[in-house]
Amino acid sequence: MLTNEQIEIRDLARDFSQGEIAPHVEHWDAEAALPAALFDSLSELGFMGMLIPERYGGLDLDVGSFLVVIEELARADAASALAVSIQNGPVAGAILTHGTEEQRGAWLPRLASGEILGAFALSEEGAGSDAGAVVTSATRDGDHWVLDGNKKWVTNGRRAGLALIFARTGEAGRLGCFLVPTDVDGYAVTGRSTTMGLRASETVDVELRAVRLPANALLGEEGRGLAVALDALTLGRAGIAAQAIGIGAASLDHSVRYAGEREQFGRPLSAFGAIQAKLAEMAARVSAARAAVREVGARLQRVREGADDEGVGAEALVARVAGAKLVASEAAMFASDEAVQIFGGYGYMRDYPVEKLMRDAKGTEIYEGTSEIMRVVIAREIQRAGAAG
Ligand SMILES: Cc1cc2nc3c(=O)[nH]c(=O)nc-3n(C[C@H](O)[C@H](O)[C@H](O)COP(=O)(O)OP(=O)(O)OC[C@H]3O[C@@H](n4cnc5c(N)ncnc54)[C@H](O)[C@@H]3O)c2cc1C
Repeated sequence: MLTNEQIEIRDLARDFSQGEIAPHVEHWDAEAALPAALFDSLSELGFMGMLIPERYGGLDLDVGSFLVVIEELARADAASALAVSIQNGPVAGAILTHGTEEQRGAWLPRLASGEILGAFALSEEGAGSDAGAVVTSATRDGDHWVLDGNKKWVTNGRRAGLALIFARTGEAGRLGCFLVPTDVDGYAVTGRSTTMGLRASETVDVELRAVRLPANALLGEEGRGLAVALDALTLGRAGIAAQAIGIGAASLDHSVRYAGEREQFGRPLSAFGAIQAKLAEMAARVSAARAAVREVGARLQRVREGADDEGVGAEALVARVAGAKLVASEAAMFASDEAVQIFGGYGYMRDYPVEKLMRDAKGTEIYEGTSEIMRVVIAREIQRAGAAG
């Protein structure tokens, strides 16, 4: 159940998404770009700093409200939702949790106002699911750090003004998380991938060549970067789960409308039992997954407020978020696949909206931890705790 405040913010996000995003999505997807004006509008609404406290210029919303905004944005366009989710989740979330007062003061107001967009750069050519295999290096040079290496598939790409770069500070697996202004010498975007879905989202490769940073660019403790990454990804995965719910909900919206309009054999598709069964299962899976996402949103908020999540512990919460991402992304994939089927041949065509939903849904099963890794995380926790909880 949403609170009155959450309903208000959902309605604001819905009006904006359906009025200002939905009409342009086909064009943005074809052009493979989100316009600057979109980011200006998102900034004006405060959506670039939803969880950031008011003293840094943010909206200071609860996690549930953040997730409901991401869901509504994704119901119109998953690429827009991804940009906003990364900004608020892994980027601002990591600075809020692990930053010194100086780091928070330096970066959070700029993120909250939308002056800069944030990126989270963990993956490398040889380090995907195995984040500990990162080889980008951070070497101490007096009071400075010097970063060298290459990052892969960095979302928010060329537009980002700040990148959280994870680099090895010592032996394998000992990482540091660095706050890197993207205009620093030696930071370069070297390429952009052509993606199956989320075409308007910029997924880029980044090269770091002797990038020299002051000591205070290190976020959190030296050697604890993996913990910072996993912590940031907990909030991030909740955001991706909400994004997936939005894609699933959009699949259902389009399918219900189309099934009511399209006639075959002298009747609307919605009169056929086979189509009704599809709609029912899409609705059931999406709403069950939404309940899981809302539950982890409430738990994450309790933890943020200093409570201990009913004593279940940090690992259990990580596993619950993994469960929400798993079921939400698989619900989105199922619902978008069924939407294409309900549209028949038209569903396969670029002129209709549902093939994009299917392309976008696939990404949610991969980024910020694949479905297989979500299962690994859940299984590990069940085995540790000795119960499903
Ligand atoms: C559109 C898009 C945007 C992205 N944006 C970012 C970003 O902003 N920042 C960033 O750092 N990264 C980003 N990524 C990278 C993403 O996080 C990785 O693709 C993802 O973590 C998987 O890593 P990989 O692609 O190297 O696959 P691999 O780790 O090589 O996995 C390949 C397959 O093996 C499976 N597998 C691997 N290990 C195991 C295991 N232990 N048990 C069972 N199965 C396993 C995987 O589930 C997968 O099916 C993005 C990716 C995409 C597609």
